[in-house]
Amino acid sequence: MSTISLLERYGRAPSGAHVACLVCRACGHETPVEATNICERCFGPLEVRYDYEEVARRISRESIAAGPSSIWRYRDLLPVDLEETEPITLGEGFTPLIHARNLGAELGLRNLYLKNDTQNPTGSFKDRVVSVAATWAREHGLTTIACASTGNLANSVAAYAAHAGMRAVVVVPSDLEPAKMIGTSIFRPTIIAVDGSYDDVNRLCTELADCVDWGFCNLNLRPYYSEGSKTLTFETAEQLGWRLPDEIIVPVASGCQFVKHRKAAGELIDLGLVDSGSRLPRFTGAQALGCSPVATAFSGGETTVVPVRPATIARSIAIGNPSDGADVLRIARETGGVVASVTEEELVEGIELLAASEGIFAETAGGVTVAVLRNLARAGRWEGDETVVAYITGAGLKTADCVASRAPVLTPVPASLRAVRERYAGLIS
Ligand SMILES: *Cc1c(COP(=O)(O)O)cnc(C)c1O
Ligand SMILES: [Zn+2]
Repeated sequence: MSTISLLERYGRAPSGAHVACLVCRACGHETPVEATNICERCFGPLEVRYDYEEVARRISRESIAAGPSSIWRYRDLLPVDLEETEPITLGEGFTPLIHARNLGAELGLRNLYLKNDTQNPTGSFKDRVVSVAATWAREHGLTTIACASTGNLANSVAAYAAHAGMRAVVVVPSDLEPAKMIGTSIFRPTIIAVDGSYDDVNRLCTELADCVDWGFCNLNLRPYYSEGSKTLTFETAEQLGWRLPDEIIVPVASGCQFVKHRKAAGELIDLGLVDSGSRLPRFTGAQALGCSPVATAFSGGETTVVPVRPATIARSIAIGNPSDGADVLRIARETGGVVASVTEEELVEGIELLAASEGIFAETAGGVTVAVLRNLARAGRWEGDETVVAYITGAGLKTADCVASRAPVLTPVPASLRAVRERYAGLIS
């Protein structure tokens, strides 16, 4: 079963009066709210459409501030109705927005901010989207949540299913980073490791979704799941004092969250939640050169993306056939952003620069983001007073292997004060 008839099951769509329907991003065809992500007319991607008049009646800066310190403070712009259902939450979101004075000084940016999403329950921004997907799934009677994953999504699905008492099935490429395997299996989901790339895994799961009644976060639940990404941009605006930044830098894998950050900024403007006169930020994408199909299309002036075979240590963003690639290209161009890539060497430097200058240990995707930020700053993209926000989407301990060889080799000294002082003098001279 790939779709679930909610009207049949409940007599109405229990997703809140503020959710209108699903709408196709390509052809505009509308369908009722159910577990599906593909337009029956044109196979385009489906999105949640809200009844914005109802949302406007419910939401205000005050109602948001009175909500929990999690993504659920923005419940009126998420596709579940909390009057009907409890969220499945581990406290995801409302992560720190840090004024990066040291890194900013190095890059000539006085108003550089880092959205530190390494601080989520399982260490990546995926907790935002999985919290929404799992809540929607339970609300609609599903008992198993599943995913195709490059690692972080598997961690998150396994953890949220454990917390909710749901079943989890995660399908991953067999060569994931060890920390991501451990960080998934600890929650005892059903894990299927596939001898292939993420793109192979994704294709298999697309076929599998038609044979089982599981909620696949990034497939049949994608319209709901992806809405959770918006909270990263809602929070950024709220934490800047209800203002949108001039530019946002986002790592791009499938492009799913990139597209939703644009949607989020539009909602904040249209609902009057940000200061009047707020303009859309420039949206800039970051990729690793070893898997940079969107950056390649951007610099070639193309409007579509040619799939590639990924070869990069930035595993969490190694998607060679990005489903939302064309929309990323369009949004970057429309808003005055760019999509750029960095080498493996540069991404490791990005991890080190972020750690040394701001005390944040990011995974490889964060290294990509910071390295793109650094390259653009060096190339003179900004004058200095612009508000630029970089989204740091994953925690460093998960990909510590990538920087292990850069740590100094330590030979112990004898356990005496003299030896310690001598070593110290030797090290700082
Ligand atoms: C999944 C992921 C991304 C990219 O997300 P898309 O929406 O697929 O573009 C970025 N950073 C991290 C750490 C991720 O896990
Ligand atoms: Zn369509």
